[in-house]
This record gives sequence, C-alpha cells and structure tokens, in this order.
Amino acid sequence: MKLIYTDSLVVGAGLAGLRVAIASKERGLDTVVLSLIPAKRSHSAAAQGGMQASLGNTVKGMGDDEDIHFQDTVKGSDWGCDQDVARMFAHCAPKAVRELTNWGVPWTRVTKGPRQVVVNAEKVTIEEAEEAHGLINARDFGGTKKWRTCYTADGTGHSLLYAVDNKAISLDIPVHERVEALSLIHDGKRCHGVVARCMITGELRAYIAKSTTIATGGYGRIYEVSTNAIICEGIGQALALETGVAKLGNMEAVQFHPTAIVPVGILTTEGCRGDGGLLRDKDGHRFMPDYEPEKKELASRDVVSRRMTEHIRKGKGVDSPYGPHLWLDITLLGRKHVETNLREVKEICESFLGIDPAKDWIPVRPTQHYSMGGIRTDKTGQNPQLKGLFSVGEAACWDMHGFNRLGGNSLAETVVGGMIIGKYVADFCQENTLEINTGLAESFVNKVRNEVDELVEGPGTESPFVLRKEMERIMMNYVGIFRNGPELEKAVTELQVLLKRAKNLGLKCKKRHANPELVEALRVKRMLKVALTVACGAAARTESRGAHAREDFPQRNDKDWLNRTLSSWPDENSLTPELSYEELDVMKMELPPGYRGYGINNAIAHPDTDKREKEITEILSELGDNADRYQRQQALMPFEVPEALMARNERLCDNLDRPVSAVPGEESEGEQAL
Ligand SMILES: Cc1cc2nc3c(=O)[nH]c(=O)nc-3n(C[C@H](O)[C@H](O)[C@H](O)COP(=O)(O)OP(=O)(O)OC[C@H]3O[C@@H](n4cnc5c(N)ncnc54)[C@H](O)[C@@H]3O)c2cc1C
Repeated sequence: MKLIYTDSLVVGAGLAGLRVAIASKERGLDTVVLSLIPAKRSHSAAAQGGMQASLGNTVKGMGDDEDIHFQDTVKGSDWGCDQDVARMFAHCAPKAVRELTNWGVPWTRVTKGPRQVVVNAEKVTIEEAEEAHGLINARDFGGTKKWRTCYTADGTGHSLLYAVDNKAISLDIPVHERVEALSLIHDGKRCHGVVARCMITGELRAYIAKSTTIATGGYGRIYEVSTNAIICEGIGQALALETGVAKLGNMEAVQFHPTAIVPVGILTTEGCRGDGGLLRDKDGHRFMPDYEPEKKELASRDVVSRRMTEHIRKGKGVDSPYGPHLWLDITLLGRKHVETNLREVKEICESFLGIDPAKDWIPVRPTQHYSMGGIRTDKTGQNPQLKGLFSVGEAACWDMHGFNRLGGNSLAETVVGGMIIGKYVADFCQENTLEINTGLAESFVNKVRNEVDELVEGPGTESPFVLRKEMERIMMNYVGIFRNGPELEKAVTELQVLLKRAKNLGLKCKKRHANPELVEALRVKRMLKVALTVACGAAARTESRGAHAREDFPQRNDKDWLNRTLSSWPDENSLTPELSYEELDVMKMELPPGYRGYGINNAIAHPDTDKREKEITEILSELGDNADRYQRQQALMPFEVPEALMARNERLCDNLDRPVSAVPGEESEGEQAL
C-alpha cells in the first residue's frame, strides 16, 4: 500500500481548492492537491460572466456596499441561505477581487467620460466619473440592485484560474493530476484523508492528512443536458455520502441556466442579457416584460428559466429537431461590443452553431447549470459530522446560495470561500496532530481494491454506460425545472432500480490501468446515490422555493419548509438516503423572509416573521439615527470572519467630494451596459 502524508490535503484543483491550498501553504503547512485533470483545465475556467463584489467604482454601481450585496444574495436564495455566511461572503468579496488583481487578473477597467448603454432595449449615454478612471469595472448581472459583477471580458473564470494556479505554482504546491479520490478514510468521527486511484497506472494510494478539503465542484452531469464540464460528476459529494456519517445539504437545489445553446448545452453567459441582450419567441416577440415587468430578462435565473419553459409550453417555442427552443438576441449590442466583451460567446456560436451572433439570433433553452447543494459544512467550512473534513466551492453547502444562487456569486464564492475557509483549515492543521492509523487506511484501500477486482474479474454483466444514460434521462425528465409528486416518485423508483443493477456491473475491457470503462463503472455507482439524494429531497419537499418548483405545491412555505434538507447514507446496502432537516431560525435573521421583488409573491408566512420584524424595528430605533450602517448591522446579526479579514472595505464614494446621490446614474435598476 502506498501511503502519502501531508498536513493539508485538498481534493480538487479548481478555484476553490487552489485558494484553500494557498492559504495552507502560506502558513507553512505541507499541502497536496489532487485533481482529475491539470489544474488550469478545471471547470472554473469555463466561467464567462464575472464575479460579484461591491466595489462601487462604476456610475451604475455607485453607492453599492456589503449591505446591498447581502440583501440581493438573501433574496436571490429565496431565504434558503445561511445569512451569517452570506454576510461573511459579502464582507470579503471586495478583498478577494483586490487580492486577485495583485495576483495578475487583468480585470476590465472603467474609462472616464461618456459611454453608451442599453436601457430596456434603447441606447442611452452615461458618464463615468473621472475619479473612477482605471478602476475595476462591473457589469449588470444576476438581477442585482447595483452593477457589481467584475469581469475580464467574457473569460473571467479563465483569467482567475490562471492567476490562482500560477500563485499556487509559485508557492510550490504539488498538484497530483489524473488522480481520483474514491473514498474517505475515517473512523466515524474524524476524517484522516482519502483513498485515491491514479487513472493512468491504476495504482491505489492512501493520502493521510490532518485536514481533508473537498473542492470537487458540482454534480451537474447526473443530468442529460448540462452546461457543466464532463468531470462535474458529483464524486466529491459521493465521497462524503459514502462515509455513512457526513451529511449533504439541499441536494434538490439545482439551478437551470436560461441560455444554453441548443442542442449541446454550452452556456452563453448571462452577461449577454446583462449587457442588453433580449429573449425572443418564435414570432420574434420579446416576451419577458409580459411576465416580469420589473426585472424583465434580468430576473433571477430560476424565474427566467421557468418563464421560458412556461412560454414554450404555450406553443411559443421555435421547433427544432432537438425540441422547442427560444432565441437570445444580442445583435442590438453591435459587432464591436460582441467582439470585445462577448468574444467567447461569438466563438462558441461560430464553432458549435455555425452562426454569427452579431447578426443572427442564438437558439437557447434552460439547461442544468449549478449545484447549490453539496457537502454540508458549518461557517468555518468544516463538516459537522466528521472532524477534519472541510468542503469549499460548488462541492459544498456552506450555504450562501439557498435555493438559487445569483449569477456572479459562485466564482466569488470559490475565492472568497477559499480565502475564509482556507484560514480555518490552516488553523485546524496547526491545532491538531496527524493521527496515523495505517490499519484503518489499509482497510479503506482494500475496500476500493476489492471493488476494482469485482468490476474487472467479477461475473457482472451490466454496462456502466447504459446505466449512466438511463440515470441522466430520468433526472432530466422528472427532476428538472418544474417538478411534481408523481414524477418525482417515478424518478426515485427508477433510480433505485438502476442502483440495484449497479451491483451487477461488469466490464468488457479488463485492464486495471488507463481504462475509461473502469473509471465510468466506479463513478456511476456513486453518481446514482448522489442522484437519489436529489430526487428524494425534491420528492419530500412539498413547497416551491427558488429553483425547486413543485407544480403541485406552488407556494413558498415558510411555515413548514424554512429549513435545509440533510441527506446521509448510513446503511450502505440501502437503496434510499436518510433525510433529516435543519431549521432556519427567523429570530436570528438580519433579513426576515419576504418578497424577492420578482416572480410570484405567494409565500406562506413563518409565524416568527412578524415578531422578528418588530424586534428589528425596536433594535434600530434604540440605536438611534446616529448609528452608522456597520453598527446597525452588528446589532441585528453579528458575524465573524478571521481577524485578518475583518477590516472594512474602502470605496471610491468614501473619497468623492460630492454626495453619492449627485452622481448621475445612481438609480441603476433595469439598465444594461453596452
Ligand atoms: C459554463 C459555466 C459558466 C459559468 N460562469 C460563471 C460566472 O460567470 N460567474 C460565476 O460566478 N459562476 C459561474 N459559473 C459557476 C462557477 O464557474 C463554478 O461554480 C465554479 O467555478 C466552481 O469552482 P470549484 O473550484 O468549486 O470547482 P471546479 O472548478 O469544478 O473544480 C473541481 C476540481 O475538482 C477535481 N475533482 C473532481 N472530482 C475529483 C475527484 N474525485 N478526485 C480528485 N479530483 C477531483 C477536478 O479535477 C477539478 O480540479 C459558471 C459555470 C458554468 C458551468
């Protein structure tokens, strides 16, 4: 058995994993990162649109601050998020953007003077302040009140990942590539590392560590059509699930993005709509203002995706051999804008559709996109059930997204979460010793070895590829944008049949090294369990919240469902996860549940909401008019981040010699940059 020891083990070399690794290494800890692929090819590189942070540099972001970012995030989450975490996040996001600048991210900058924008499909001119010249720009994105999505044209994830990976390289952090973690080594209370398999040689290794951080990204590929890279298969979530102890949070919270191209599902960024692009139906009609007069194309993603699906159901979709779709029209932005700010979109349209988006409309439809659910953690990123197990990024349910994450908030979560959780991981490593139990490690390695032996030499006859296709179809058909009880029950039953069949997998290719069929077989068993947590969680949640829309229970029900679904798999022979619930405490919320400002306002109120609102009014009136916004916030819901990150964020408006209200364009809702 090959044993590799380290202090801080990170599984996943995307933005989140690398940022945690940097934080450990900077503390002088021995750090090792595992990845299926070279770090720079992680899925983070595909993010086009940008990263949210309340810098307030542009005229349309002027007056922005942590409070407004926090409120957008909580409303976007449909009150499903942990508000403490949303606060920690909003507070640190500007620091992360500035840190990334120091690491070489070429953010798009503000140019002083007049520039043209599209306001509700009309071109108008706004004036950028002289003082803002050269500062980091922001675009309209994610249905936010202020423009706060910082970007590098439409290659933001790419430029961020390159900068962060280069930083990791400069610190000499080893990334063991083409190595797949398949099992967590644990004793039921503490996590000691992972069993991983080299996908080239087939060698099994035990990585033993003080802390193990799972940063393996989302589980989008359990669906048939997804914007996710093919490696986003949810094995990280399965690692936690298969411990039988660690719990996953809100797995049914799956986001569909409104504008993936048809049929392949490659994303065209929300920046297209943010910059002024429109959605049209088969008659060329711009239909979003009919449904959402206020936010139009820029309502939150769950709302736009549902409106598009509703419109298609009314027969307004464009027929195609791949089913009906709608159009995304960015022609009104003009060629220069498309070729500079949206050039990746242009290349995608040329290469995969054979069209020119500066003159042709793009065929789009809602497609699986983001996993709000993941490994449940506390505020420090640690799993409450297994000490020493941390999770960060899309793999985790740190829970700043609740039931819908805002565009631009997840790139930000990777680096902000990595920055905060990275410090807690480093603290943990410094406060704890390495517990070396080679016998325990060996038993976990043997278990994976037996699994591989059984697949290669056993009598099984089921094909992993067939099971995989079936699973993807079930998830797409029954656990999609609109859900209902009978279909969800059908999904659960059919997935359980597949999980049973997965016990009889057999391979045609008998190699133990470089064998994609073996890789697929090891994964599909795990993916089926992850898919079952999504389907079972969705079947049990009899309400509609954020991206979880039940046709048979159309109201958001704060009275009975203001909670977080937890799933675990204590009995490895069972075909069903165990579900339990974590209540969200309204009396501790800074922003009690209310209307999101878009979509249908039909919530069933929580009995504590009125009480908490009254309490908030009293607390604020006791503080008096002289209290500043920081004091007001602390009085309502005190939050903490590591000491080094506590400092306040400086903004341009702090130093402007005129009041913010005098800055033109402050009322920015509904306007889009050209
Ligand atoms: C097309 C697209 C565009 C997007 N655009 C935006 C945007 O504009 N703004 C925004 O905020 N968000 C955007 N997102 C979301 C955002 O990009 C992701 O949420 C984020 O990048 C995830 O980063 P991560 O570090 O958590 O995981 P990833 O970048 O997915 O990295 C996961 C890592 O884990 C490794 N790994 C996985 N499983 C294993 C295993 N078993 N063993 C070892 N290693 C493993 C992989 O090799 C990889 O290195 C977009 C998403 C998509 C799909």
